[in-house]
Amino acid sequence: MDNVRVRFAPSPTGYLHVGGLRTALYNYLFAKRNNGTFILRIEDTDQSRKVEGAVENLISSLTWAGVEFDEGPGKEGAFGPYVQSQRLHHYWWQTQQLVDADKAYCCFCTPERLEKVREQQIAEKKSITYDRLCREIPQTEARKRVEAGEPYVVRMKVPLEGEVTFDDMIRGTVTIANAILDDQVLLKTDGYPTYHLAVVVDDHAMQISHVIRGEEWLPSTPKHVLLYQFFGWDLPVFAHLPLLLNPDGSKLSKRQGDVAVEDYRTKGYLKEALVNFIAFLGWNPGDTREIFSLQELVNEFSFERVGKSGAVFNIDKLNWLNQQHIRLKTEDELLVTVKPMLAEKGWTGLPDDYLKRVIALLKDRITVMPDFTTECTFFYEDPKSFDEKGRAKNWGADTAGHLSVIMEKYAACEDFTAATTEQLLRAAAEELHVSAGKLIHPVRLAATGVSLGPSLFHVLEVLGKETTLRRMTYAIETLG
Ligand code: GLU
Repeated sequence: MDNVRVRFAPSPTGYLHVGGLRTALYNYLFAKRNNGTFILRIEDTDQSRKVEGAVENLISSLTWAGVEFDEGPGKEGAFGPYVQSQRLHHYWWQTQQLVDADKAYCCFCTPERLEKVREQQIAEKKSITYDRLCREIPQTEARKRVEAGEPYVVRMKVPLEGEVTFDDMIRGTVTIANAILDDQVLLKTDGYPTYHLAVVVDDHAMQISHVIRGEEWLPSTPKHVLLYQFFGWDLPVFAHLPLLLNPDGSKLSKRQGDVAVEDYRTKGYLKEALVNFIAFLGWNPGDTREIFSLQELVNEFSFERVGKSGAVFNIDKLNWLNQQHIRLKTEDELLVTVKPMLAEKGWTGLPDDYLKRVIALLKDRITVMPDFTTECTFFYEDPKSFDEKGRAKNWGADTAGHLSVIMEKYAACEDFTAATTEQLLRAAAEELHVSAGKLIHPVRLAATGVSLGPSLFHVLEVLGKETTLRRMTYAIETLG
């Protein structure tokens, strides 16, 4: 495909929504797959919704996820600026063209009048639209009122008859009767354009070839198509992505879980897992494969495999994918993240080599990265207390004596590995005429303070001889 130029066009409302990341990702994948350009455009024409730091936040979440844009704020290309509030003259100029061509008109209705019309329409159970009172005001009269300082908006003059048709890569051909479209406001009293005007003007000016966005924008598209026709511009190709749903089928909402990308980031999800998960919210590869890197997604992504029906945001699936991606990482890679997390909890000074061996033992057992600091904390400090249930069940009057026999063997052991610690424990069990199980549980309790964890002998090997013996001595002193 030639000259693919796509854009992600969020409003800076404070954070990147997971649905936004899905839109950004699909745009990115489509661009990369087709040697195209991926643009970030900030749609901040609703000044009342402006949030300080929102743009930086959006960019930081996108960058974290690896969904890097080619043109956008801070990466100015030939089509900038990429922030709509810095492009107001474009919208004024184009609005003037529409008014001159009688495709748009000034509307002087006050908010109070509009509210009355609305109330009446509700009372009469009619659909709520502007009643077009100002549509027939002659242009000369309208100009005089504007010059006299009367507040106004500019509305598009939607044809009263006919229909509008466009193609959507996911939904096929969509046709809507003009009669059900409102005379949409294009320019507001404050001189800012509405989304509808700005999106069309900018998509054209930035030579956007494909408009890929969420399904919630589908009802707006007929108005946009009319605007393209008013201006005499070629249409881009549209693709409206399926809705994201909660497991109960309702629209994905904050009330049922986190929706900000940064929430998942702080909770310790890997970007690889989140991106893999998000990619599958509407797309699938057509076979049973589930684990994909960003590059693999680029290689395989296509709109033929994006469905129409809503995609369920299933946190269990994300957890599972996170586990899989953690397993795919090397100990060195994981160490980079785990070390600062441990330091935050006060566990510093542990050698990298040691931590890597801990990570190797734990990485099959954890779901999110912070689990490294909450699971099996005995790797980072000596246990001070002992699991009560385990003690009641596995620590008897003869335990201290049994452990002394094992400790003697461990103390003499030159090569303290999982294999040798197991052999020596089994030898001790034979000498003492008890089952190995009778020794394994108290040794685990003594060495780790708890009754569960990775394979005991591997734990002992990682802890090392000195630590194992010190902890066994302490347990005997404490538990008797
Ligand atoms: N500014 C719109 C949003 O916040 C963009 C919709 C579109 O991509 O056209 O999602």
